This record gives sequence, C-alpha cells and structure tokens, in this order.
Amino acid sequence: MLGTRTMIEKTVVELASALSTGSVSSVELTRAFIDRITTIDTQLNAYITVDEQEALKQAKEADEARARGAHSPFLGVPIAHKDLFCTQGTKTTCGSKMLQNFVSPYDATVVARLKDSGAVTLGKTNCDEFAMGSSNENSFFGPAYNPWGKNRVPGGSSGGSASAVAADLCAIATGTDTGGSIRQPASFCGVTGLKPTYGRVSRWGMVAYASSLDVGGPLAKTAHDAAVMLNAIAGHDPKDSTSVAVSTEDYTQSLDAPLTNLRIGLPRQYFSQDLDPRVAAIIQETARNLENLGATLVDIDLEKSTLSLPAYYVIAPAEASTNLSRYDGVRYGYRCEDPLDLEDMYTRSRTEGFGNEVKRRIMIGTYALSAGYYDAYYKKAQRIRRLIKQDFSKAFENVDAILSPTSPFTAFELGAKKDPVSMYLEDIYTLGVNLAGIPGISIPAGFINGLPIGAQLVASDFREGLLLNIAHQYQQNSDWHKQKPSMPMGV
Ligand code: GLN
Repeated sequence: MLGTRTMIEKTVVELASALSTGSVSSVELTRAFIDRITTIDTQLNAYITVDEQEALKQAKEADEARARGAHSPFLGVPIAHKDLFCTQGTKTTCGSKMLQNFVSPYDATVVARLKDSGAVTLGKTNCDEFAMGSSNENSFFGPAYNPWGKNRVPGGSSGGSASAVAADLCAIATGTDTGGSIRQPASFCGVTGLKPTYGRVSRWGMVAYASSLDVGGPLAKTAHDAAVMLNAIAGHDPKDSTSVAVSTEDYTQSLDAPLTNLRIGLPRQYFSQDLDPRVAAIIQETARNLENLGATLVDIDLEKSTLSLPAYYVIAPAEASTNLSRYDGVRYGYRCEDPLDLEDMYTRSRTEGFGNEVKRRIMIGTYALSAGYYDAYYKKAQRIRRLIKQDFSKAFENVDAILSPTSPFTAFELGAKKDPVSMYLEDIYTLGVNLAGIPGISIPAGFINGLPIGAQLVASDFREGLLLNIAHQYQQNSDWHKQKPSMPMGV
C-alpha cells in the first residue's frame, strides 16, 4: 500500500492507475480521505455532510467489482459533490436552512453518471446558499475556509468543493457555475475549474438558481482530471429539456495536441488601468508561456464587457425569484412552527428559511419581473445579453480562445466585502461567459503574497476539448497547479 499522504495527493488519473494495478484498494483510499476529513475539516468546513458508511460501502462494492474484472475511469475513486446536486439517501441542503433536512428521492444525472462510472461519494460540499455568492460566506452552515491563507475565503459559490480539492479532502469535486462559481473558487484555491457550455451537462437534479445560466462541472487538481470528469458527465439527457443533443467527444483525446496555429485573444478592455498590476503581470506571463508553446497572441476587443455585470444582476435574480417560489413550506423544505393560516405559513416559512442574500435576490428579481418594470429591466437585460453573445461571437471569428484573469484579485479575508455590490464586482471577468453560454476554464497561473491566482481561458460553444488541451499543455510546462497549501491553520 502507498503511504497515506502520497495517496490522497494523487490525481484521479494517477489513482485510477494505482487502483487498477492493485497498489491500493478503494476501501484503503476512502478510509484515508475520511481520516483526513476528520482531522482537517473542522478547520476548513469544506463539507456539509460526510457519509462515511455509505462511502465505505461504495468503496467495498468498487473493489469487488474490480475483482470481478470491471473497469471504468472512476472505479473506486473518492469524489465529492457540491451540496446543490441531489443525492438519493444523503441530505441535499443547498447551504440553506430551507433544505437543512431535505433528502432527495433521486440522484441528479451528474451524480448518477459518476456513480455509473464507479466513483465513491465521500459527501457533500459547502456552498453559498442556493449558489448565491462569491465567498461561501452565505452558507447557513457557516463559511468554508481557504487552505491557502488563515481567515481567507475559498471563493464561491462552490467554495467547499474548491477548498476540499486544494486540501486533498477528495480527489476531485463537482461544482456549479451560474456566473463564475466554479472558476472563481478554483482561482482562489489554486485548482482547475471548468464551466462547460450551457446545456452540455444535464441540470436534472441540480437545484436551480438561474436556469438559463446554471451549468455543472469539475473542480480538479489538473486539466487532465477535469477532462476525465467531463467525459463522465457530459452528454444529452432526455430528463433535462435544455440539455443539448450535440454529440460529445473523448475529452482526453485532444489533450496532447500542440498549440501551434492557435490564436489566443487578449481583450483590451480586461487589461485596463483598473486591473491590479500584479494580476495583469501574471496573466501577461501566462500569455507569453502559451506563445512559447506555439500559440499566437492577438489583441481583441470585447466592447460590451462592462455591461455583463448589470445584465447578469437583473437576469439571475429574476430567474432565481421564480425558481425559489417553490419553497413555500407546503411541498418540501422548511415549514415554520404553528402557522396561523396559509398566508402566515408562506410568509414565515420563507422569512425564517431563507438567508439575507437570497431574500435580496428574490426582491430584486420580483421587482425586475413586475408588470411595470419588466420592459425597463428584464427585457433590456435580455437584449444586452444578446449583444454580449455577439461580442464573443465576433471575437471568435479571429481567435480560438480568449485569455483573461479569472478574478480581479486573490482570496480576500472573511468579512472584507461589506456591501453586496463590491462582492458582485468579484465576478466581472466570469459573468459574460455565462450570459453567452460558452465554456470557460480557470487554471492556476501564479501566486501573489502566497495566495494562488487563476487565469481564465474561454472558447466558443462546445469547444471544451480545446480549453482542456490548452490548459493541459500549460500544465505540462508549469507547476503552479502542483503547489500544495501548507495548511496555515496549524495542520
Ligand atoms: N457570484 C455570482 C452570484 O452570486 C455567481 C454565483 C454562481 O455562479 N453560482 O450570483
């Protein structure tokens, strides 16, 4: 058996090979992750639920299946799911008091597909309530912490997943991205996060925040691992009417392609004077490295990029306000005690069950959709969304991919963003990608004062294979993604 520490630091690809040669069993591996979660997660709070018994049972089944000759990419590999994905038999809380005790009667398609691929589920990771936030501070279960810095946020909303992958509390994790929630925490925690094209990954059983923007995807130690997970989860799902019937590819096949003949765009608007010069220097350095690998750099314009933020913060809350109307205390979720009548039950269940940020979004969304303001806000935001999509489409006539920062800065301290708008500004480089529905990836690209920072690569619809290829080539020639936090919390 390999040493415990060596085992849990391994990538999914490495673990799959260790499992197949028999140098480690899934039960040994799962035990090692659970032991580490038990010692370290008291400080990171990356998990909301750890289902030790279920995980060990799945691990035993994986070992037995392997002994019978079974093979699949995740067979026996311990993973974690953002607590926004429904898991049959294990709680799905969405980081909310509203769903504190909710147990789904079915698995999300993403969960089911990873199970079919042999994955062992360790548990459910912490997140901002209903995926609303950029720091994981909006979780009913308390914030998750960043293993790279004392009292630093891991980013959000998939903060628990990013923190868990960075601290080796799972081999890989799922996340969801509505406006940046896979990429921004990946940047803050020094891991690789892929947001696939809208519709590429089924939303069935992934609790809805803003349905026209939500996408599930991997938070991984490497681009190669992200490709392996995308292979398992991508593809049409008849249960999700917004899932697309475009055929998938084997995303590991194109990883080794050389970057020659690729044109990578650098949007002038993103490298303005407002960008922290230390972040700008890191992204420029990433660009030069990609150039050394054969890519051609091109300056491009994304003229409408400043409109992403206002458009997103009308559309996302509007959709959220309708999606969240289902939590009424009647069907499932939290119900207030001793309601006086129906009206009182609706009002108090929602008042007591939702946190402040969720209520803020419901109010903004309801206002934007109301008869008197629909044209002025929602309709206009949808028009702007179209212009943003056109902006990207025009750019992709001249370049294959676009390089930018993922986030304007590194992980901030808990409580540092006092007003909601400064928190919203966190997502300026990621939101447009969701509005356009295109894929994006964040890869570790450097450090500022000991904190990781990511570079974002974006491509046109369904070109995840290209993004993973560029990211993999970069990672073959850099070691930012191999750095490990020294766990400043004293572990
Ligand atoms: N931070 C953004 C928001 O709060 C994006 C969140 C997400 O992608 N789920 O809406």
